[in-house]
Amino acid sequence: MKRRPTILLSNDDGINGRGLRPLLAQLKHIGHVVVVVPDRGKSASSHSITLYKPLRVEEVEKDLFTANGTPSDCVRFGILGLCKGKLDLVVSGINEGANLGDDIVYSGTVAAAMEGALLDVPAFAISLAVDQNKKFDFAAKFAGRLSRELLRKGLPRGVFLNVNIPDVPLSQMRGVEITRMGKRFYGNEVKKITDPRGENYYWIKGDTLSGAADEGTDIGAIQRKKVSLTPLRLDLTAYDAMKTIKDFRLPIR
Ligand code: MN
Repeated sequence: MKRRPTILLSNDDGINGRGLRPLLAQLKHIGHVVVVVPDRGKSASSHSITLYKPLRVEEVEKDLFTANGTPSDCVRFGILGLCKGKLDLVVSGINEGANLGDDIVYSGTVAAAMEGALLDVPAFAISLAVDQNKKFDFAAKFAGRLSRELLRKGLPRGVFLNVNIPDVPLSQMRGVEITRMGKRFYGNEVKKITDPRGENYYWIKGDTLSGAADEGTDIGAIQRKKVSLTPLRLDLTAYDAMKTIKDFRLPIR
């Protein structure tokens, strides 16, 4: 019989993130789960890693560790340290809030999965597009099922998955769609505020206004109450733009 797989679970909502426990419970049916999560919320921390301060790690429960770093730190520590050489899958989530379209660039949840792919471990990120329900149980179940598939079939090298689950009752869900990244629109605005001492400070706002619900995009799928599954690639090279750049007049050739 095949050995029991080892799964590394991380997130960016931290140890108290509401999506962590339901996902952990599901993954425990599948294999040995090691959890490494930030000791506090690290949403929108993107793919930063900690280089100039010591990483403190604490085992708060058996196989459940918190670290004073980013999601990427947690995954690096898990893969390179704790589970060195015996890791089969990295799962990141369940994030409380969607990670769609342009969000992916800022997302700590997605960065944790990306770190898995960077270190050659199959990985996916899963987010609940929270609305009124805030129910993580179906998302957790979906993650369990997807984990089994990934453990069986793997992914092409350098590819990982970004999953978003609509926050609607199961009876209203309209299936699974394989999607591409859509385009989000934000109410981006820099607000200048004067503090009580007369000094200025700035508040950079990025309220989500809407997204282009185009057919085939992650944003569109969620708006149509479908589970969105987007394969992402580490290689960000814009191959089609290489020709354009070739025509630039640059000081040396
Ligand atoms: Mn988050």
